[in-house]
Amino acid sequence: MSRNAELFERASRSIPGGVNSPVRAFRSVGGTPRFVARAKGPHFWDAEDKRYIDYIGSWGPAILGHAHPEVVKAVQEAAVHGLSYGAPTEAEIEIAELLIERIPSIEQVRLTSSGTEATMSAIRLARGATGRNKIIKFEGCYHGHADSLLVKAGSGLLTFGNPTSAGVPPEFVAHTIVIDFNDAQGVQEAFAAHGKDIACVIVEPMAGNMNLVKPVPGFLETLRSECTAHGAVLIFDEVMTGFRVGPQGVQGITGVTPDLTTLAKVIGGGMPIGAFGGRTDIMQNIAPMGAVYQAGTLSGNPVAVAAGITTLRLLGEPGFYDRLGAQTRKLTEGLVQCARSHGVPFSADSEGGMFGMYFSEQVPKGLNDVSAGNIEHFKTFFHGMLDQGVYFAPSAYEAGFVSCMHDDAVIEATLKAADHVFKTLN
Ligand SMILES: *Cc1c(COP(=O)(O)O)cnc(C)c1O
Repeated sequence: MSRNAELFERASRSIPGGVNSPVRAFRSVGGTPRFVARAKGPHFWDAEDKRYIDYIGSWGPAILGHAHPEVVKAVQEAAVHGLSYGAPTEAEIEIAELLIERIPSIEQVRLTSSGTEATMSAIRLARGATGRNKIIKFEGCYHGHADSLLVKAGSGLLTFGNPTSAGVPPEFVAHTIVIDFNDAQGVQEAFAAHGKDIACVIVEPMAGNMNLVKPVPGFLETLRSECTAHGAVLIFDEVMTGFRVGPQGVQGITGVTPDLTTLAKVIGGGMPIGAFGGRTDIMQNIAPMGAVYQAGTLSGNPVAVAAGITTLRLLGEPGFYDRLGAQTRKLTEGLVQCARSHGVPFSADSEGGMFGMYFSEQVPKGLNDVSAGNIEHFKTFFHGMLDQGVYFAPSAYEAGFVSCMHDDAVIEATLKAADHVFKTLN
């Protein structure tokens, strides 16, 4: 038995499914998960010391590549001074000021320990600030695992959602309206029917949890105008896209300004962190200023904050996102060219350091389009690339991530492996 298989068997005895987050388990592609022993730059090594080019990057955070020396140094220096205090620090002000300076829609910000906490808190805040209960979310967007967000569309337009997880009572999602991503008309109809009861709209402004799906022109603009017209709070969940697709997230690219923004992943540089922020008048509703309760023992953890500040500083270097975007396009354009040369229906898209690959002719516009892709092709491609030492997400419903350490040699090695694998698909 391979060492990875041995570890997986052992893990499965003590940890449900052998993993601490479900998609790591390879359930949708089959096979044995790789247990990571160490990582550096664009690579990681598994328990058998096999090296992989990594296109997950911890599902987004590793934008500087793994174990960036300056980030590691910041973590080590912070750790020496204590791991957690439960009292405020100057570094927390520094990261708050950095986030406010970089993302103009954020006037005040509060830190959490994960993206899930950030979105959960932002929704509670929107409800508390408006005194309303209903929320709108979109099919295929993921906002962490809070109860009211684990929901899919009910049957028929304007029905309330059904839980997508056991353990979520239907009553808990009774206030959640689910609409197709990119369905601006659906949003207008929901506001026409329920406008005075809608506390907020939460959206991944560029969806990254059903593979990469970009907003069509006018979609985000409609969210903005409907929220403004009806006094609802617009929340951009930029946990994945924040500092990943560009220096100001999707809001910087589209020019559509949310009331609240949630962040995590990149802003912690690999350490556990999350944040939600936005308009001061809304943020002032949080305890201890206001009546909306929100807290966290490890929120603003000094080691995580040190990693975050160093990461954000490095991302602020001139030309960073131009270079990152160019490397990512080299990858996606190379993959498309390679697939076409072997007659495999395939398309790809990217924004900054985030990309989507689709086993279909057309780039998708929503969850149904993504689901229509050739899943058998995806599985064969995934395992073929894995054999060749290239690690893509083990699911057709995930985006991919490139770091600034993915240089030309790494991209070329990836495309060479892909040429080999696409050949077997046709
Ligand atoms: C990852 C993610 C979350 C959840 O963040 P965690 O840190 O995993 O809790 C929420 N929203 C989006 C858009 C994400 O990609």
